[in-house]
Amino acid sequence: MALEASICSKCGSKGLVPIGSRKCFCGGDRIVFSITEDEYIKMSDYEKNKMIEEMNIHPLISKEDALTIYNVTHSTEIIDAMIELKQKDIIEYGLKLSQFKSQLDQKRQVNQQEKKQVYCPKCGSTNITAGQRGYSLLTGFIGSGSTVNRCSKCGHKWKP
Ligand SMILES: [Zn+2]
Ligand SMILES: [Zn+2]
Repeated sequence: MALEASICSKCGSKGLVPIGSRKCFCGGDRIVFSITEDEYIKMSDYEKNKMIEEMNIHPLISKEDALTIYNVTHSTEIIDAMIELKQKDIIEYGLKLSQFKSQLDQKRQVNQQEKKQVYCPKCGSTNITAGQRGYSLLTGFIGSGSTVNRCSKCGHKWKP
């Protein structure tokens, strides 16, 4: 797929994107750099920043902030409202942003807990007795090192 280097005029997110993708996640319009993909890859951060300065592009919000807001709200309108707030009341903006950040942290923690949750591969029950030492058919005694999960609902046993 052919790529082109561009920058978002709104959040300053820059990089190589497939040719023709003009919209940024934040809802901003991407401005295409007049350089090739290879030239962009070879550029240092300093050179990139200089080029952006010369193009007179001044992002309204940082990419990190915009991403935080987007990941919590999935709304580009709220990003716009936050940009407005940033210009009007930077302290209030900081407070709101830290709220979004803590919401995002909570979301991540929940996701991690969900990942840790073990499901029975047979019936999908979460009522699992995990990590019990298994009875080895080969040696005939409770083996060390081999653990099995047991589903309390259907009785299915499997190696984690
Ligand atoms: Zn953007
Ligand atoms: Zn089961």
